[in-house]
Amino acid sequence: MFSSKEQFKQAYLQKLEMMYGKRFEDTTVSEQYHALGQLVRETISTNWIETNEKYRTNKEKQVYYLSIEFLLGRLLGNNLLNLGVRDLCEEGLRELGIELSALEECEIDAGLGNGGLGRLAACFLDSLATLNLPGHGFGIRYKHGLFDQKIVDGYQVELPEQWLRHGNVWEVKRADKAVPVNFWGKVESYMENNRLRFRHVQAETISAVPYDMPVIGYKTSTVNMLRLWSAEPAPYPIHRDVLKYKRDTEAVSEFLYPDDTNDEGKILRLKQQYFLVAASLNSIIQSYRKQHHSLLDLHHYIAIHINDTHPVLAIPEMMRILIDEEGLGWDEAWNITTKTISYTNHTTLSEALEKWPVHIFKPLLPRIYMIVEEINERFCQELWDLYPDDWERIERMAIISHQLVKMAHLAIVGTHSTNGVAKIHSEILKHREMKDFYEIYPQRFNNKTNGITHRRWLIKANPELTQLITDAIGDQWVQTPSTLTELEGYAKDESFRKDLQEVKQFRKKILAKRIKDQTGIVVDEQSIFDVQVKRLHAYKRQLLNVFHIMYLYNRLKEDSSYQIHPRTFIFGAKASPGYYYAKKVIKLLNSVADKVNHDPKVNPYLKVVFLENYRVSLAEEIIPATDVSEQISTASKEASGTGNMKFMMNGALTMGTLDGANIEIRDEVGAENIFTFGLTPEEVLNYYQNGGYRSLDYYHHNKHIQTILEQLINGFFPNTGSDFEMIYDSLLMQNDEFFVLKDFSSYCAAQAKLSGVYENKDAWFEKSVINIAKSGYFSSDRTIQEYADNIWHLNKVKVY
Ligand SMILES: *Cc1c(COP(=O)(O)O)cnc(C)c1O
Repeated sequence: MFSSKEQFKQAYLQKLEMMYGKRFEDTTVSEQYHALGQLVRETISTNWIETNEKYRTNKEKQVYYLSIEFLLGRLLGNNLLNLGVRDLCEEGLRELGIELSALEECEIDAGLGNGGLGRLAACFLDSLATLNLPGHGFGIRYKHGLFDQKIVDGYQVELPEQWLRHGNVWEVKRADKAVPVNFWGKVESYMENNRLRFRHVQAETISAVPYDMPVIGYKTSTVNMLRLWSAEPAPYPIHRDVLKYKRDTEAVSEFLYPDDTNDEGKILRLKQQYFLVAASLNSIIQSYRKQHHSLLDLHHYIAIHINDTHPVLAIPEMMRILIDEEGLGWDEAWNITTKTISYTNHTTLSEALEKWPVHIFKPLLPRIYMIVEEINERFCQELWDLYPDDWERIERMAIISHQLVKMAHLAIVGTHSTNGVAKIHSEILKHREMKDFYEIYPQRFNNKTNGITHRRWLIKANPELTQLITDAIGDQWVQTPSTLTELEGYAKDESFRKDLQEVKQFRKKILAKRIKDQTGIVVDEQSIFDVQVKRLHAYKRQLLNVFHIMYLYNRLKEDSSYQIHPRTFIFGAKASPGYYYAKKVIKLLNSVADKVNHDPKVNPYLKVVFLENYRVSLAEEIIPATDVSEQISTASKEASGTGNMKFMMNGALTMGTLDGANIEIRDEVGAENIFTFGLTPEEVLNYYQNGGYRSLDYYHHNKHIQTILEQLINGFFPNTGSDFEMIYDSLLMQNDEFFVLKDFSSYCAAQAKLSGVYENKDAWFEKSVINIAKSGYFSSDRTIQEYADNIWHLNKVKVY
């Protein structure tokens, strides 16, 4: 990389002047950012080429990670960190009068994802490269990532996101590697050498153009690739309406997850899924063909992983290529396909399990549909042999039934591995949601508890804590995060706890300034920073958090002897544009904030802050400053969560339900170092199965709940009209599907207990140390090594 600060400065100045044709003094901060980014990318290009060359000649197995989302965030700081030149660059730039942090702020987050699933894919790429594993990401280069959120009068307003408006210094367009993707048209059959064969004719062909981004491992020469596909018109379109064709084509990679509430939106979404899969498989098999003789060995050299069901058409697409293009028979093709592809399930929420209507699927992808039908028929025949006459079971398990294609069923049947993302989630899959499939394919099901990259979420986001840890236990934890456990010995060390407290205080000061700048709200830096940042969803229960705040407010108002430790409640959350209910919760959050923050009787003790446009770069500022991590989903609903891990690693204590990875966090830190409350997953699932919960009982028997619910609709919040009727109704008329009222009392009790512990800073920071010490397990390095060992069977490849 850069051998010295002087050499860096020289190279940087040269780059800057070459790019913009002006003197350094006259360049803008944005230009300075772009020049640094470009310089970094060019500097690693030798390693990038070498890595590719090594993978090509070495013939080691490679994994391709297909994901409809990659929530990368900013890359400059992370790339400098992984290259091991962050400090050198920071110092060199400072001598030129430039603050590195100011350049970093110029970078617009690559927000090509909605939340946890997309961020997981990004963390996995970082771990793959760092562990010297040959693994690449394939995704879509959306022109507009997840919308920008503004809050106007307490309501969410969505603006189209424009991350490419100043270009993207990290990508390289590879026009020569574009591949065609076919939609519509029809399937013709013909005979060849006595075999029935098929071809897709009269298709509308579009071009998938790859934009490659380097994925730089931490202090290693490995540079893997993230390939993002952009939809462009094919070179020679033969169309009557060229303009319409161009519009339809470009729409495919225009937006992340377009509205899918109507059929037109649905077609576009399915188009995106097939676009990703067809382009990726085409390119994977092409490059395989250049190196290897026989397709029959494909699964020895290639693993393809599908992140949730969005890329599940990889299964029929691979069958299509092997049968139609390569001339293999069905059984041979099926054997290779199932041995190559593996699948991660991310949810058991029924509304999130993808089902595609045949009337949409079949005309758009006629040959793919035929293949899915054939897979379904053969699968149902097997079921018939196993369970003769059990029609009900076969209907339940079929891939196509009632004119719907069930993508999760296709994924389980067409792959060799189905994994859940936390222990409890994998158990629910095996014994409840996918019980029927577990019965016939027990060996396919396994668990891979999620992780996060400690490089972005600790080393980069919290350099002060990083230094403190390293001063105490040395730096081997950076390479081997499991050795963070050595910190445990410092939990009882008074001076270490004091230092930790100071680091937390320092980070809270930074966040307080951000809050002041962004919202005008002045918060008490000595208050408890209680944070819930994540997508807005009914099952994540931001509502429960709000009700607790209203409870505290009401108690403070009615009883002047009631005392609490001052708290600052901080929220960040985007609601899906069409998710009406979630948007009302955002309005409620902001209405409560208004009420609380402007009431002089309570505002010395309570503040509520909503930070708009929650995204990766904002998360990196919030998480190091957090005291309390709110992870309060309805038990059984949050498959894993990864936010919970980021907070723990930064010394926050978790307030959580026994859900997802919270359970494993508790197992790691011990029940005395986490605050848990509420129903267990078992209890929730049993209520769903057998009934027996009546939310009205909780309303009638709890005065606090009564007051809070009435405040939603009695004018307590000025100028909110009937905004919160929907919330009121969901709790009382629709029996509170997410058990907010049921868990309310136990949540308040756990919060009171937490408040008591915070009074004793020794006790609090002892727990905080233990949380950091036990967070190494949740590094995505551990997760990825498990995928590599148990699913992909991948070896490390050292480039130099
Ligand atoms: C980690 C992360 C998430 C996932 O958070 P959960 O609490 O696990 O839902 C969502 N969005 C962003 C920006 C993240 O960094």
